[in-house]
Amino acid sequence: MKRILVTGAGGFIGHHLVKYLKANRYWVRGVDIKLPEYEQTAADEFELLDLRRWAECLQAVRGIEEVYNLAADMGGIGFIESHKAQIMHNSVLINMHMLEAARLQGVGKFLFTSSACIYPGYKQNSPDVTPLKEIDAYPAEAEDGYGWEKLFTERQCRHYWEDYGLKTYVVRFHNIFGPLGTYEGGREKSPAAICRKIAMAKPDDEIEVWGDGYQTRSYCYIDDCVEGIYRLMQSDLHDPINLGQDRLVSINQLVDIVAGIAGKRIRRRHDLTKPQGVRGRNADLTLMKQTLGWEPRISLEQGLTETYKWIQQQLQAQGRI
Ligand code: NAD
Repeated sequence: MKRILVTGAGGFIGHHLVKYLKANRYWVRGVDIKLPEYEQTAADEFELLDLRRWAECLQAVRGIEEVYNLAADMGGIGFIESHKAQIMHNSVLINMHMLEAARLQGVGKFLFTSSACIYPGYKQNSPDVTPLKEIDAYPAEAEDGYGWEKLFTERQCRHYWEDYGLKTYVVRFHNIFGPLGTYEGGREKSPAAICRKIAMAKPDDEIEVWGDGYQTRSYCYIDDCVEGIYRLMQSDLHDPINLGQDRLVSINQLVDIVAGIAGKRIRRRHDLTKPQGVRGRNADLTLMKQTLGWEPRISLEQGLTETYKWIQQQLQAQGRI
């Protein structure tokens, strides 16, 4: 059995990825600074390690053949706009140490999870944005802090591939969502935050929406995300690739879809003082379709139905609704 390391295995995507790899009969070690919050890990081994520390990265990679490196200090737009120094410090340390530890261990393949936040602000100024192609990353003007760290590590992955022959893979996620993800506390992202607010609202209540709600995004359900990651790791593509969907919706539309799922009439109160990120962002999926012969299939409505159900159950179990 191939021995795989998933870092960030206590987090949202890492936890789902471990389940996917186990279902596909790999031996998996999960590593994180925290255990998964909402259910037990499926990993064969789970170690609590701080991957900012070099010695703990060496410990994480021992006996490992492939690394899926998802650990990062991250959150939704409210978090990343207000913790830039912390994010860059922590994630640079994690990624530089993990790449070097993987090289020394003789790891065959190394995945780095980058983000749509690496794309330049000047290409995302309008809600009806042109979908972003991988080559649009340069000339760079990434999201300050979080996006620049991702872009820097993307480049270091390329250098490790070119200089050392470590097979690096770089995936740029576009808004991944689903059950078992953070839904409150400041690090949650828009789909989870909206599901929580609507689950807690009474019919005809008002919920707070950040910005005027006309900002647009595309969203990808977690099951498609982990399948896409796995398919990429079976390919020969070592350049960055988008992973997401290309159905553009506004935040207002997202609210309406979730309200429909909840069966509630909801009014919106727009708070223009809150961070909103870029005005519009969509993914061009040409490279993904060409190289992987595949694209995500789960609709936004299906994915949000599962996510809403799960968040609602969490809140019910805590006696909050
Ligand atoms: P997450 O926050 O749920 O998971 C990240 C995990 O990394 C957390 O469990 C955290 O505890 C762990 N971590 C942080 N610092 C660590 C350290 N020093 N040592 C060990 N573990 C540490 O986030 P996620 O949504 O699962 O994201 C996974 C990856 O995908 C991240 O690299 C993220 O930047 C990237 N990404 C996610 C999205 C998205 O929409 N969720 C979009 C773009 C990129």
